[in-house]
Amino acid sequence: MATALITGSARGIGAAIALRLAKDGYNIALNDISEKMFEDNDIIDKIKETGVEVEKFICDVSDHAAVETTVKAVKERFGTIDVLVNNAGITRDGLMARMSEEQYDMVVAVNQKSVFNMMKFVGSVMMRQRKGRIINLASVAGLYGNPGQINYSATKAAIIGMTKTVAKELGSRGITCNAVAPGFIKTPMTDKLTDAQREMMLGQIAMKRYGTVDEIAGVVSFLASDDSSYVTGQVIEISGGLSM
Ligand code: NAP
Repeated sequence: MATALITGSARGIGAAIALRLAKDGYNIALNDISEKMFEDNDIIDKIKETGVEVEKFICDVSDHAAVETTVKAVKERFGTIDVLVNNAGITRDGLMARMSEEQYDMVVAVNQKSVFNMMKFVGSVMMRQRKGRIINLASVAGLYGNPGQINYSATKAAIIGMTKTVAKELGSRGITCNAVAPGFIKTPMTDKLTDAQREMMLGQIAMKRYGTVDEIAGVVSFLASDDSSYVTGQVIEISGGLSM
């Protein structure tokens, strides 16, 4: 049975993607940074109810060596890695003038370097399989910029460049690599925004509502499926018409 590895999947968008791919019939390798994230969330039980196999792999995805070990462990446990979803991400917002070097570097390490780490080691497994699907979580912040998020926007724009590069490097091996760029989706990450920030965002959305985690998971499911077999190097914006 095919296997999907989803980073940062204890909660939020990652958990919704993991559950959707489980319903699609994939065995699921979950990942998050701490055991506590899984104790506080019920994603493992929900996936077990679908009847597929599920296991959690605790790992800081910004740690190159730890990712190598984790990818080996996932391959040993499930035999294949058919879908990789690079979802783990953080924010450390602040206007550029007040942003510290630490705030900047941390977001780059977790959001951007992690994607290199995972694609390098999982890509090598997929190349031997001569098939695979990589789906990266970018953001509208990476497409259009967002005040207070110079660090975050930089990483999400970088992910788009990395996605196109890997699509070109691995396409001949039957591996596709695409990105999704969510707009404003209701999760613990966006719960941190102020009311003023929320109001401002809503005013710019054509559909006049926030997105749901399941609306992201549906597009990821399509990009993981055979229906998207000739789609690679693309960025699909899922924002309710934020940019029009
Ligand atoms: P979330 O609710 O904060 O979930 C992200 C998960 O990743 C958390 O469980 C988090 O654990 C984990 N994580 C953080 N650092 C990690 C690390 N170093 N290694 C492994 N796991 C780590 O975020 P979300 O809103 O679901 O966002 C998921 C992805 O979608 C992110 O890449 C985000 O940038 C992107 N996105 C979200 C939105 C939105 O509106 N929510 C919009 C555009 C793009 P901790 O809580 O312990 O850090």
